[in-house]
Amino acid sequence: MNPFETIGMSRVVNAAGKMTYLGSSSILPGVIRKMGEVAQSYVDMEVLKVRVGRLAAQKIGAEAGCITACCAAGISVAVAAVLTGKDINKVEALPAVTWKPNKVIIQKGHVVNFGANISQGIKLTGAELSEIGSVNQTKPYHLEAGLDENAAAVVYVVSHHAVANGMIDLAETIKIAHNRSVPVIVDAAAEVDLKKYAGSGADLVVFSGHKAIGGPTSGLIVGKEELIAACQAQDKGIARMMKVGKENIMGLYFALEEYQRLDEKEETDRQVKLIEELERYLSKLPNVATKISWDATRPIPRLQLIVERSGQKDAKMLIKQMEENNPSIRTRNHLADQGIIQFDPRELKSGDIPIIYSVLQKLV
Ligand SMILES: *Cc1c(COP(=O)(O)O)cnc(C)c1O
Repeated sequence: MNPFETIGMSRVVNAAGKMTYLGSSSILPGVIRKMGEVAQSYVDMEVLKVRVGRLAAQKIGAEAGCITACCAAGISVAVAAVLTGKDINKVEALPAVTWKPNKVIIQKGHVVNFGANISQGIKLTGAELSEIGSVNQTKPYHLEAGLDENAAAVVYVVSHHAVANGMIDLAETIKIAHNRSVPVIVDAAAEVDLKKYAGSGADLVVFSGHKAIGGPTSGLIVGKEELIAACQAQDKGIARMMKVGKENIMGLYFALEEYQRLDEKEETDRQVKLIEELERYLSKLPNVATKISWDATRPIPRLQLIVERSGQKDAKMLIKQMEENNPSIRTRNHLADQGIIQFDPRELKSGDIPIIYSVLQKLV
């Protein structure tokens, strides 16, 4: 029996992807076993956190690393680090930033909500947030004007949530910011190519441990030695309120090892197979059409279920009814306004496909 059913909750069929709100990733059995051993052992937590941060960073070609409770926590910790450096008095003073520079710059098209608004995660450090440009357009001169003597950092978001067009790209953001000696913090929460961002020239890059890496709830900041030391220093300040346990620190490390062993082509083939099988089923349904599409920046195939206007129900109604079903079928719903329901293969189990089909047979 699914453990959640023992407390009266519906089983979830996850066709949404690695979503924090659905419990992210199914952790590999070998990783879980080792996490169990960690959970029953003692360790010097401060040494452990520093050591695993360093080892994780080495794995992805970064200078240094710091483990956090999640990516959202990592964003706050990274911002705190640029504000305080390693000055323990400043670390303890947050969120009362009584010194300069205290301004964090972000392009308006990057002010995303990933379950919470990123601006809150920045501001809770005490930083003053400055949004530049417009929602659909930011130009280099906006960034240059923002980079005055009060600028502490630029936060750059890599995500399908962010506005895709009209923004200053990462390479140019780094170039302009570094011209004024201002560090760049990248939120690359769900990105697949860790080395690419670790090697982008950004000062700090934050990943989620439970998305692409497939680990337990956790986060990883990598970047420059000095700034990472300032990130670790936050454990005596605001990061204490975002504590990460020994199981999850080690779980992230073991998951990262497995993630690096993963053959990308094999993984993509596995996903394509699942999506093709799902298409064979769902294309038999009335009032819908199917189409396979690819993620804009990552090698992830998805099945689009295009709900025809002539049918009784629209995409949003179907999404709601699939959700309310037991088992609850969860899909990717960014395109629901256009009548498209997306099925993501990453966390699907092959036994899930007939279940999705039979539920949709009743609903469409
Ligand atoms: C998911 C996500 C986050 C938050 O990640 P957590 O590890 O769940 O805290 C932050 N930024 C972006 C762009 C995300 O997609």
